[in-house]
Amino acid sequence: NDEIFKNVISHAKEYGFVFQSSEIYDGLSAVYDYGQLGAELKNNIKTYWWKAMVQMHENIVGIDSAIFMHPKVWKASGHVDGFNDPMIDNKDSKKRYRADQLLEDKIARYEKDGKQDKADQLQADMDTALKSENLSELRDLIINHEIACPVSGTRNWTEVRQFNLMFSTQFGAMAEGSEEVYLRPETAQGIFVNFLNVQKSGRMKIPFGIAQIGKAFRNEVIARQFIMRMREFEQMEMQFFVRPGEDKKWFEYWKTARLKWHQALGTSAEKYRFHDHTKLAHYANAATDIEFEFPFGFKEVEGIHSRTDFDLSQHQEFSGKKMQYFDNDLNEEGKPYGNYVPYVIETSIGLDRMFLLTMINAFEEQDISTEDKKDSRTLLRLHPALAPVKAAIFPLTKKDGLPEKAREIMNLLKLEHNVTYEEKDAIGKRYRRQDAIGTPFCITVDHQSLEDNTVTIRHRDSMEQERVPADQLERIIAERVSW
Ligand code: ATP
Repeated sequence: NDEIFKNVISHAKEYGFVFQSSEIYDGLSAVYDYGQLGAELKNNIKTYWWKAMVQMHENIVGIDSAIFMHPKVWKASGHVDGFNDPMIDNKDSKKRYRADQLLEDKIARYEKDGKQDKADQLQADMDTALKSENLSELRDLIINHEIACPVSGTRNWTEVRQFNLMFSTQFGAMAEGSEEVYLRPETAQGIFVNFLNVQKSGRMKIPFGIAQIGKAFRNEVIARQFIMRMREFEQMEMQFFVRPGEDKKWFEYWKTARLKWHQALGTSAEKYRFHDHTKLAHYANAATDIEFEFPFGFKEVEGIHSRTDFDLSQHQEFSGKKMQYFDNDLNEEGKPYGNYVPYVIETSIGLDRMFLLTMINAFEEQDISTEDKKDSRTLLRLHPALAPVKAAIFPLTKKDGLPEKAREIMNLLKLEHNVTYEEKDAIGKRYRRQDAIGTPFCITVDHQSLEDNTVTIRHRDSMEQERVPADQLERIIAERVSW
């Protein structure tokens, strides 16, 4: 499994999907750049999400709020005081670790060694310590379970301290009089502070949702597993505003709807599972994660949280503005008209994790040997709607007017689709390159094409070829790449 993950990472780099940020300067840890194909794939994932959430729902609209927000937002949301990880330093190696992560690694070790009782006990002790924010108890657990620093091998630990995950910077030109602002650690607050603006200007009626895609920043202390945990990443979030008392119903609705969204991409059902939270964040009355089976185990890709009226009430209190909704419809149902602070169901998915999931799920090293020849190919079995390049157009040879004919076809297709042209190397080699980046169709222009305007179209997954009239290509491709 480690092997598969390593192969996906090097494949992503080799073909221009993901690069380490500032690589020529040896990189910046846990920050990544998307290359020419990665940017396309990422955009296609965004479009799939936006269409499913905004375009397909009459009562959901999308916004694009700024990354910088008033510092009070993060006071109100609880992030200034509560968005912390408990950290511990090793005095010899000077390395810093998340205390809970060290303990979790130890629990995993106990489990591996068949010491299930010890594992369960440590898990319970850690949960208690985390819940009561008992930092010295966390340290005691690390000492008592003889956890050593992975780098120095010693057990010379400092105290445990809380470390805030928000990045801050100075707002305004002069240091003097400038104000400290944060880079947002989630996109959700941009939605909450615009609740009234959107509700009024869009004349939205409850239940309704506000969606947004955007960057978020967290100073993660342990950054590992490639683009799973980054310091700069992107979220696709939707906050759904409902009547108090209807929150449980909508929570269940969005759980089902979001899992369906994942599975519509053709991923096998066993790869996904829900992980319901038993320990709830201060703002939630129900929460679940949608987990995917990565090569390193089941891990969260998306969170669905029933956030009660916590966020809007907090902003009401901190801003002094009424964050209420006047519900006309209640009267039609024979209940008195009412003003209330709506309850919120949140669906929050990491775009980068979805990208990684998509790459891992699509990656295949396939044996295509025949009786007389050993052969293999590397394949990205991407859903055609997600594929960065929809079709590659090849002239069979570089002469006899075939390149001109091929470019003519490409010029027609490129109005609607991202297509590419390639004339170098043998056709077989050109197919392999397109297989490796997930292109669903390869179109070959040969001498017959000049006579009857037909071309061969070769399908990525089946490798089957068929001859079709060139003027039908647009329709054939459009059919397969649409949702
Ligand atoms: P984790 O427990 O993995 O740190 P979280 O529970 O803090 O995640 P949320 O705050 O619920 O995550 O954020 C919603 C989604 O944003 C997550 O499901 C994940 O896909 C994504 N996400 C969160 N932190 C990161 C990160 N550092 N890098 C990439 N994606 C992230």
